[in-house]
Amino acid sequence: MTVYGVPAARTVRGGVIYRAAWVCPIVAPPIENGWIAVRGGRIEAVGGPPQKPAFELVQDLGHVAVLPGLVNAHTHLELSWLRGRIPPAAEFIDWIKQLVLTRQRRLKPSDDPAVVHEARTAAAEARQAGTIAVGDVANSLASISALRDSELHGLVFHELLGFNETDGRLVDASRDERLRAMADGDGRVRISIAPHAPYSVSAELFRAIRAEVNRSSVPITSIHVGESVSEMQLLRDGSGPWPGMLRMIGVFRPDWCAPGVGPVEYLEGLGMLDDRTLVVHGVQLDDASLRRLAAIGCTLVTCPRSNQWVGVGVPPVARFYEAGVAVAVGTDSLASVEDLNLFSELKTMRWLAPAVSARRLLESATLTGARALGFDSDFGSIEPGKRAELIAVELPRDVEDVEEHLLSGIDPRRVRWLGA
Ligand SMILES: [Zn+2]
Repeated sequence: MTVYGVPAARTVRGGVIYRAAWVCPIVAPPIENGWIAVRGGRIEAVGGPPQKPAFELVQDLGHVAVLPGLVNAHTHLELSWLRGRIPPAAEFIDWIKQLVLTRQRRLKPSDDPAVVHEARTAAAEARQAGTIAVGDVANSLASISALRDSELHGLVFHELLGFNETDGRLVDASRDERLRAMADGDGRVRISIAPHAPYSVSAELFRAIRAEVNRSSVPITSIHVGESVSEMQLLRDGSGPWPGMLRMIGVFRPDWCAPGVGPVEYLEGLGMLDDRTLVVHGVQLDDASLRRLAAIGCTLVTCPRSNQWVGVGVPPVARFYEAGVAVAVGTDSLASVEDLNLFSELKTMRWLAPAVSARRLLESATLTGARALGFDSDFGSIEPGKRAELIAVELPRDVEDVEEHLLSGIDPRRVRWLGA
């Protein structure tokens, strides 16, 4: 393929060539004894024997697999201070209640040094575990400064909630907040806007957010969809625990009627779904809904460890791939997972979907996430023109299948950044 078409005799001045036991371009099979030519922070060429490009500087990385930095398509860095504070629950509604009660103690997260400190620590840990970019959902925009101080790239979704909102006032307030937050940015961290979920956002607020996203310079949004059985019950016929919970927190609307459909049909009817929408979780979605997401071009973001922690069950990972929908991977927040290591998420995905090829799983944690967040011109694969933000994963001597090994749960201590 053309990505390997570097002329053998070409000398690249001021560049470096990295050699490694394995190079995993993601868009092609792993290359044994591969090399990557880098200049000015960008990838110039990728190849393997018998090609031997001449470069001024050659760095032999040894017995490692080189792959692109990973992309965590769904996390909430501002919840990092909740690490270890919300125990796993048997029922989603119980986990949510714990979350709401615990969060009430931090009313202004953006101004809370502990919240910002923990977000910063989590971002640094994610980077150490091989992550280059995140899709970060934030109610307060507390994660903006944490991301700016980190070496991560990020698309932050300013998330709005309001089951009893009858207009788009929250969107107007968010616009002001986002403009302030963007003021001194360098483009490494971008900001968009997102609705939380069908059980926490009114139809009017969904429509107002959609209109705002369409006007935005970053027209990408994200929604939690089909996470719990209780969400499905609420939408189908107004049953289950949500009406009681919404009454308890004072946001239930007497004029509300159950739409009588599943969440994908409901959101599509509101014009909420398009090919730049990240549909997060999808644990409860049937095959017809998954195929509909594929036809629309949505990206489904799966967070299997979090799903089990919050009591919504095991996501049908194999069915996601069979339905043909683009699958990206997220860790969700440290309130529902023990670390932000995407390699741990991949290990769970391999366990849940043993028949899906290793390359497709790795692609989900790299290129598919990068595409969904609009970072694919820089990240997600090892191809000429992309940024050389690459990781080297130390391999055991006896590794037989390098791609399978990368799904075995890589310890961050086995990961290092090229050029670091
Ligand atoms: Zn989430």
